[in-house]
Amino acid sequence: MDLDKQRQWFEQRLLARFLRYVKVETTSDKNMNTIPSSKGQLDFAAMLLQELKDLKIPNAALNTNGFVSATLPASAPSLKQQTIGFIAHLDTTPDLTGAHVKPIVHENYAGKAIALKRGIRLTPKASPALKNYLNRTIITSDGTTLLGADDKAGVAEIMTALEFLKNHPQIPYPNIEIIFTPDEETGRGMSRFPLKQIKSDVCFTVDGGEEGTLEIECFEAYSLKVTLFGQSIHLGEARGKLINAVELAARLVETLPKNESPQATDGRFGYYSCVELQASIERARLEILIRDFTPKECKRRIKVVTSIINSLEQLYPGARSNLEIKKQYSNMRQSLKTYPKLVTILEQAIRRTGITPKRTYIRGGTDGARLSEMGVPTPNIFTGGHNFHSYREWIALPAMVRATQTIIYLAELWFSFHETHGRKNEKQ
Ligand SMILES: [Zn+2]
Repeated sequence: MDLDKQRQWFEQRLLARFLRYVKVETTSDKNMNTIPSSKGQLDFAAMLLQELKDLKIPNAALNTNGFVSATLPASAPSLKQQTIGFIAHLDTTPDLTGAHVKPIVHENYAGKAIALKRGIRLTPKASPALKNYLNRTIITSDGTTLLGADDKAGVAEIMTALEFLKNHPQIPYPNIEIIFTPDEETGRGMSRFPLKQIKSDVCFTVDGGEEGTLEIECFEAYSLKVTLFGQSIHLGEARGKLINAVELAARLVETLPKNESPQATDGRFGYYSCVELQASIERARLEILIRDFTPKECKRRIKVVTSIINSLEQLYPGARSNLEIKKQYSNMRQSLKTYPKLVTILEQAIRRTGITPKRTYIRGGTDGARLSEMGVPTPNIFTGGHNFHSYREWIALPAMVRATQTIIYLAELWFSFHETHGRKNEKQ
């Protein structure tokens, strides 16, 4: 079917939704242990629940943790047994304010630098992708907050695709499950994911960046919690006796290879990063993150940290340590291998929107990485947004249209795909 003809409808629906969503403050809170970690996420979830009800999508529900879910039943009788899911997150990063977002719609973008408040400038030099949207609509914040395209663009795109599919039952599609999740940015939301309730064979997070990209790999991630114990004594009588845990911690941080830090690496190179440190003479606690695309490299780095800690105990006799190693998430590549045709269909769907798909990887994790680990392969689709977690965050409306169309084509392609290559056949 020709979705291009309906472009105006998509633009109008997406813009109205997106502008409404970004105005709800949904900043998550790292320091709260509740899920959701902030009330704004529940307000946004309630707003989406009402919209789903207005669209007459069955089973629309909101649970106490802020997960919004609904299922649009299959339009093709032969696909009643098939379910695919789409996921986006409700929260915005706690690193930058998301209160009182005032989105600015720049129609007919002329290709020049865009001046925002507080002297913040968005320039084609620093953001070359802007040039792809000459004479089209770009959306930014006013420069005093983030925009929130991460991931309200994803939410708007899923909602709009759902509305379109609901109104076009002549398109053959499987059951479409949608889940909006809280606290993606704090990494905590997925611990409460309603996995038992989910029927999807595969899911897609709509939480990526540049249009055309599909993210099928992410980091392997570990958190190392290190406790270093010193030995306290009155500082006046400390000679030859004091073991200062503050110094132990400083030495540990200083010894981590600086050429393998986040600020020194990119591409497929992983890193160590000490992200938290609390220290007093008696005791220091540190959190060190280990990231890499391969388990082997992560294990090598864990060994390095272990060996640095052991050497501290040698250098400061009497010092003691404790190390807790926690796996946070795995590279989704392994899980996607169980469903090899998945990436092919996704690329086909993107190509149908008129652009070239671009496989890429995430230097981080997504809710999809966690879900893949739980057994539901979940690659990440672009939203069209750029400069996430920044005052210069922006998104182009045509990219949002193509993200929405990708979701619709995916649903449609599922039909032809399963007619010829059902999952069972594939596994044989
Ligand atoms: Zn995101």
